[in-house]
Amino acid sequence: MSASSVTTTIDTIVGLQTAYDELKAAEELLGGIPDWMKELHTEYSERKEAIETIEAAIEQAAADRRAAEAEAADTREKLEHYQEQIGRVRNQREYSALLQEIDVVKQGIQGFEEQGLEALERHETESAHLEEERQAFAELESRYNEELGKWEAQKPDVAEKAEELRRRIEALKEQLPPPDLRQFEASFARFDGAALARIQLVQRPGKGPRIWHCSRCNYRVLPQAIVEVRNHGSVVLCDSCKRILFYSENED
Ligand SMILES: [Zn+2]
Repeated sequence: MSASSVTTTIDTIVGLQTAYDELKAAEELLGGIPDWMKELHTEYSERKEAIETIEAAIEQAAADRRAAEAEAADTREKLEHYQEQIGRVRNQREYSALLQEIDVVKQGIQGFEEQGLEALERHETESAHLEEERQAFAELESRYNEELGKWEAQKPDVAEKAEELRRRIEALKEQLPPPDLRQFEASFARFDGAALARIQLVQRPGKGPRIWHCSRCNYRVLPQAIVEVRNHGSVVLCDSCKRILFYSENED
């Protein structure tokens, strides 16, 4: 739009759509992480998650060890109980049966002791691993916090820009004739925040009549519609997709 041109309805609508697009970008930025931090953020999150996984493995190893030790203790009690019975057996058959029980219980104790030892070793290995990971993470974390500080310092500017865009949107809405505003709002809602479609010149080899299409759905735009939009700045919908058509000199 040149400085000398009169602001038409469609110009105002294009300005409104642009302001909404910029507001959406600003709001997304405020609710997330800026592009320049994304790579670092991903690395940070992955390393942090890796550390949490190791911490969980350490806890699991400790729990496994406690469980194995408790089982071993119970089984040792059982063994003592059987050993006390040895003096009370009445015949060879009872004696053999008791020895067999004692054998099973001893094997059980050995099994639980092995489990406890395995859990202890796992605990030590994972703890050493955690220490390594934490040392490597410390450098990354301080770099991340530094960048986060920079982003926090920039946020007020982005928030202010968003506020300015909200004011601009209200001002532009007031400039529109009510039926055109209603049409814009209906298209904006229907097409998920993208109310407009550009009138696009179809590139064709050779000479012939110029043909125009809707940039969104490729449906033909008739010359009369182009005159309405370009010369009168009126609100005209695409015959097919029903988005509001706009014309821009520079993009063909
Ligand atoms: Zn269309």
